[in-house]
Amino acid sequence: MTTIVRRHLFGPGPTNPYPEATEGLARPLLGHLDPVFIDLMDETCERLRAVWDTRNARTLPLSATGSAGMEAAFVNTVRPGDVVVVAVNGLFGRRMCEVAARCGAEVVPVEHAWGSPVDPERVLAAHSNPSIVAAVHAETSTGVCSDIAELGDAVHGASDALLLVDAVTSIGGVELRADDWGIDVGYAGTQKCLGVAPGLAPFTISDRAFERRVERPRSWYLDLGLLGGYVGEAGTNASGGARTYHHTAPVAMVSSLHDGLGRILDEGLDNVWARHAEAGEALRNGLEGLGLELFAEKGYRLPNLTTVKVPDGVDSAAVRRKLLERYDIEIGAGVGDYAASVWRIGLMGPNASPDAVALILSALAETLG
Ligand code: PLP
Repeated sequence: MTTIVRRHLFGPGPTNPYPEATEGLARPLLGHLDPVFIDLMDETCERLRAVWDTRNARTLPLSATGSAGMEAAFVNTVRPGDVVVVAVNGLFGRRMCEVAARCGAEVVPVEHAWGSPVDPERVLAAHSNPSIVAAVHAETSTGVCSDIAELGDAVHGASDALLLVDAVTSIGGVELRADDWGIDVGYAGTQKCLGVAPGLAPFTISDRAFERRVERPRSWYLDLGLLGGYVGEAGTNASGGARTYHHTAPVAMVSSLHDGLGRILDEGLDNVWARHAEAGEALRNGLEGLGLELFAEKGYRLPNLTTVKVPDGVDSAAVRRKLLERYDIEIGAGVGDYAASVWRIGLMGPNASPDAVALILSALAETLG
């Protein structure tokens, strides 16, 4: 039988959860239409509005992982033949292209070098009249943070396009302001800086985007029109009887997210971002102190996910294996062309701490000799 061990999850996600999120998982299970659960769901949606920094009524945890958030974003907004401009600066931008194409979009990818941020001017120049412009805020494959405020200004200043943003790795770790930045459709995941297990996709959509949605999208499960009843449409209250059955809510996961978000909001978003920033800076300094070279472009490095070049002559996989076997530390390999030449070290949620920084630096120093 498999023996479960306790690991330090310092990779690109999942991270170790906040203790509050773990406790939330173990609460007595409620029926998914129980009035108490419905109140818990309402509160969860309210807390999600806070971490997205949005007033969007339609802000909810989709019952699936971040990729389902991506699918929901495109399947509800793309009609066959729509032009969708996608800023691609890593794996997840590429995935957006694939998902949009499957929804029938005429995809216009704007390729950027991996390791560099999205360039709004190039994105804008790619097409004169797109229906949607899509970008990844925090590219987990490269450790790069793009300036979504700048992209939002550029897109909304030049066209009527919807701005669709992947915030899987940014939410709860770096500044994110859905309304101020003009994000029309946003999706995220629970397993990174929100410090909750994988399994839900926090999602938000503006009224403007919702009004332009596909009436009968190809996906029944992710149809936002139907999901309105699942979480209760704006203005209807949980106990008011407006809730309808769509699918069985993953009650334990919603409860865990509720408590994890409570933990973050109690600390205060500004403090949480500052904690991630400090941990990231300490890690980068420490890695450079070990003689290692960082991968992502300076000025655009994510604090919560640091990419490091594997030194010449070092076997990337062997180092990761040693870290796991000797220290119970997981770090990530690179992705695509950088699979063997880059490591990805995540300090997310509760792991954004001086202790975690000290642990990973000392283990790496010993392992590298
Ligand atoms: N987008 C980004 C930026 C991600 O980092 C990930 C996962 O790591 C996803 C999308 C997909 O999320 P999931 O693996 O939860 O389906």
